[in-house]
Amino acid sequence: MSLLAEDTEAADLGLRWKPGFAALGPAFFTELRPTPLPGPYWVGRSEAVARELGLPTDWHESKATLAALTGSMPVAGARPIATVYSGHQFGVWAGQLGDGRAIMLGETEGGLEVQLKGAGRTPYSRGGDGRAVLRSSIREFLCSEAMHGLGIPTTRALCVTGSDAPVYREEIESAAVVTRVAPSFVRFGHFEHFAANQRDEELRALADYVIDRYYPACRTTDRFGGNAYAAFLEAVSERTAALLAQWQAVGFCHGVMNTDNMSILGLTIDYGPFQFLDGFDPRHICNHSDTQGRYAFNQQPNVAYWNLFCLAQALLPLIGDQEVAVAALESYKTVFPNEFEGRMRAKLGLTEAAEGDRPLIEGVLKLLAAGKVDYTIFWRRLSGYMADGNVEPVRDLFLDRAGFDAWLLSFSQRHAGTDRALAAELMRRSNPKFVLRNHLGQQAIEASQQKDHSGVATLLALLQTPFEEHPGADAYAGFPPDWASTIEISCSS
Ligand code: AMP
Ligand code: MG
Repeated sequence: MSLLAEDTEAADLGLRWKPGFAALGPAFFTELRPTPLPGPYWVGRSEAVARELGLPTDWHESKATLAALTGSMPVAGARPIATVYSGHQFGVWAGQLGDGRAIMLGETEGGLEVQLKGAGRTPYSRGGDGRAVLRSSIREFLCSEAMHGLGIPTTRALCVTGSDAPVYREEIESAAVVTRVAPSFVRFGHFEHFAANQRDEELRALADYVIDRYYPACRTTDRFGGNAYAAFLEAVSERTAALLAQWQAVGFCHGVMNTDNMSILGLTIDYGPFQFLDGFDPRHICNHSDTQGRYAFNQQPNVAYWNLFCLAQALLPLIGDQEVAVAALESYKTVFPNEFEGRMRAKLGLTEAAEGDRPLIEGVLKLLAAGKVDYTIFWRRLSGYMADGNVEPVRDLFLDRAGFDAWLLSFSQRHAGTDRALAAELMRRSNPKFVLRNHLGQQAIEASQQKDHSGVATLLALLQTPFEEHPGADAYAGFPPDWASTIEISCSS
């Protein structure tokens, strides 16, 4: 019987729920209720996600909805659960983890799971308070929508709601809840959990569920002699490779690529100490707690492969043959570089591959790294140069002018005969003007902490369409101020 059967009062969000993940049975989760927060208020909302969910247009006007999305009132028809998973954290087996502060309301009829992150303790909280602070919730909200705006696979975020309830971190902060949305929140760690506990039956049930729901083509493939689990591993590897190519091309550093933070759908998930690079530094470490630099920017593609290896190991009892499992990972090694080159080619305004593209790409990255040139600004100015022929704004970014001129010559030669207007348009669509730089998030957060949430809305609007010019918003597309480099962001907050 549902825990909610006794509720007399519940908020009707206008959504219809189906069993979804919960149909797997109680070995996979614990049924529970969010812990209410007092005095909830809106901090930010994404109407785009509201539409995706099929919420009524006046969804945010209801006090009951606000309370429900803060965990303070049950949601009609929902059956909230916290799921169990394990994982490797910083390269070390961490054992059981699980949704320690995210509570899943369920899956909508439209096939989207809805989670409240920061909605209180669960059996998987491991001593944590089950809460998320306003600061990290705003960052997750904005970055989810920013990634989507950039065309990068990600979990989405409907809203952030806040409460003045105190949360104890290094200092006292206030609580918030992010309502997250994704077709599935299943992680590599879910598979690792059942494999590590030698629970092959549950492992198989989980794999079958994920394959049937999200990778049905694996059922009918000829790959690996029709081994659906191997085909599944290969498909996850390919999606992960494509995701990593997008991260590297846009200059996104995730910061905590533990296997429990790896989506089985190849989505960007669990926004913590992430960062969009300012000055290009391949060795940049955005997570203040990552003292060894395991998750440095240039390590990400290798770490993803390492994480896929953990997934392969977990799936081994189903795949049945180690060699086949290893073979299923192989395509990562070709998909990643191909996708990465494709993304970089688009950034350079090139529609077709040609010999010499790789040195052209490597050459510009080397120059950017040598001068710690601002990554986003460089690419946007290069797009401008393609449009108007004025090279000075790009050239001005480099101290090594001779080096830049030499590269520009090869770039121009590669573009001989190009339709510049077309190339400029491709570049404009491939090189965002706006990314969620740390200092921009920080400014919006500080205002929100003073109860002015307009900065969150302003940033959201820019980040949802980051390739548009947005005249009048140039201040959000400029160089970071000096203090930006002093922002320290670490793991759970
Ligand atoms: P993260 O680094 O945010 O991906 O979290 C790693 C693990 O710690 C997950 O199992 C989280 O659910 C859990 N966790 C993080 N912060 C908290 C918290 N404040 N309370 C309870 N569990 C948490
Ligand atoms: Mg996590």
